[in-house]
Amino acid sequence: MDFRFSPEQEAFRGEVRAFIKDEWPPKPGDQSFTRKLAKKGWLTMSWPKEYGGQAASHIQQLVYNEEMAYYQAPGQSMGTDRVGPTIILFGTDEQKKEFLPRIANDELHWCQGFSEPGSGSDLASLQTRAVRDGDNYVINGQKIWTSGAQLADYMILLARTDPDAPKHRGISYFLLDMKSPGVSVRPLVQMTGQAGFNEVFFEDVRIPASAIVGEVNRGWYVSTATLDFERSGIGRVIGGLRTYEAMLQYAKQAPSPSPKYRRLFDVPSLRHALADVGLSFSVGRLLSYRVAWMQSQNLVPNYEASMAKTLGTELHQRLARIAINALGLQGQLREGDFVPLHGEAANFYLSTVSLTIAAGTSEINRNIIATRGLGLPRG
Ligand SMILES: Cc1cc2nc3c(=O)[nH]c(=O)nc-3n(C[C@H](O)[C@H](O)[C@H](O)COP(=O)(O)OP(=O)(O)OC[C@H]3O[C@@H](n4cnc5c(N)ncnc54)[C@H](O)[C@@H]3O)c2cc1C
Repeated sequence: MDFRFSPEQEAFRGEVRAFIKDEWPPKPGDQSFTRKLAKKGWLTMSWPKEYGGQAASHIQQLVYNEEMAYYQAPGQSMGTDRVGPTIILFGTDEQKKEFLPRIANDELHWCQGFSEPGSGSDLASLQTRAVRDGDNYVINGQKIWTSGAQLADYMILLARTDPDAPKHRGISYFLLDMKSPGVSVRPLVQMTGQAGFNEVFFEDVRIPASAIVGEVNRGWYVSTATLDFERSGIGRVIGGLRTYEAMLQYAKQAPSPSPKYRRLFDVPSLRHALADVGLSFSVGRLLSYRVAWMQSQNLVPNYEASMAKTLGTELHQRLARIAINALGLQGQLREGDFVPLHGEAANFYLSTVSLTIAAGTSEINRNIIATRGLGLPRG
């Protein structure tokens, strides 16, 4: 098996890297980074040309995603990585005309209204109702953990259109204008102190029937495509690599934690833990390459994406624990001149907790690996 990239792909990697070095993080007063990516056509490089993309190969997209993830730069938006591709697959001509150019130009912010207080892993049990009334549907109910809803122009919304059908067969997939009367957003503050996600309430919200993506009552199957797009990225593995490299650098230079050892890097358990993490980054990278390669062959990665996601997200948490333990009490501080790694360990520790919950928990992904990957009967 040859894992090397072609000279053209390596040249493109160099181009992306040079762009990131110049443009990320943006300087005050700069145009938004993603708007610049949109201008270069990079946000939608793998979309078909007829929808404003460049029809780039999955491997070129992988190279791009890998560089963006490594530098922790936002190389995609929710619109470009999952909403646009879902509309391309299932949307009407009118929906394509209305939304795809604006998504490609980074003019619309999206949020994903799937989870509810009683429906997360068992998403198909969702209770938000959409009742037909003439040319409209009337929405009532609540979503939770809706990332970015406070900034979003539109939501991809799952609502129950047939309460009597079996649970997977009574759901429809809507494109909801967040400015519609009756939508209210309440931010939820996380333990990092940020308020990245929200509760969203719907009170008699009217939405045109033409806003349904795919067929009425078949929205579950549309949403699984959206979730497949969401889970397939290499970012969940490579996103923490720079923190790992910073930790290695620190371990090489930091003084001894106790008289028993000469330097931090002499501590055997830390040496082994860091070696182990390095090993897992290499495995995770290859699992992610496999997902992209399958896509390039028109195969649908399923348990393969779950393997990369589970390994990558748990790896981030393991690295966070190693870093916070190795850095001692100061490592728990998030800012201050004397704080090791400029507080990165503490921030990383807090922010990685949610990774094994978002986009399908580790347990749910292990169930997928067990049933679809290993052929074990459902438990
Ligand atoms: C950072 C972050 C961002 C998010 N953003 C969004 C968003 O934008 N839009 C959105 O719709 N949702 C979002 N979510 C919600 C996310 O999709 C859900 O949290 C996730 O699906 C789990 O659902 P839950 O929280 O209801 O937990 P539950 O489903 O109640 O699970 C509770 C526990 O039970 C376990 N469990 C459940 N079922 C099984 C089973 N069958 N077998 C074994 N174990 C099981 C779970 O693994 C978990 O440990 C986000 C979550 C996070 C953390």
